[in-house]
Amino acid sequence: MITDKPLRYCPYCGSSLRRSLLPGDPRARLVCTSCDAIIYENPRPVVAAVIEEGGKVLLARRAKGARAGRWDLPGGFVELDETAEGALAREEVGCEIRLHEVLGVFREAAGTYGPSLNIHIRASPLGEPHPTDEVSEVGWFGPDELPPAEEFAFENDIAALERWKALPPLEEP
Ligand SMILES: [Zn+2]
Repeated sequence: MITDKPLRYCPYCGSSLRRSLLPGDPRARLVCTSCDAIIYENPRPVVAAVIEEGGKVLLARRAKGARAGRWDLPGGFVELDETAEGALAREEVGCEIRLHEVLGVFREAAGTYGPSLNIHIRASPLGEPHPTDEVSEVGWFGPDELPPAEEFAFENDIAALERWKALPPLEEP
């Protein structure tokens, strides 16, 4: 199912939308033809954990969805009432994790629901990760052992791992 198409109807009143140039705004916006609501289109915030131990990073193989069978970094969408850290704590890799600093923020043009803004946070495992519902397999990979790009689900993970490879190993607590 393609879910990244622009909205066609106003989410507030149900009337049709049209693209219009508004004064002082260089982008054509979706505007309701009835209630004049402006629908701003923005990337969705996603948080991902770069979980590291002994110089290796944890990858998860997706069990579900259009990109099942491909590798990604554990993570997910940030809900309205969540912080980035809170959303990550909810993500299941089969063990608790300790969060460290932000590795970087990377854009994904082809996210599951359209473009996303992906916040990658470094983390340490506080147990033994193992596959959960969403994941068919987890594995540890050294900087020179990462799967080829075509086996990843999302380009932003590849970009984040490129940056990760250039960093010194995480200080163990
Ligand atoms: Zn409306």
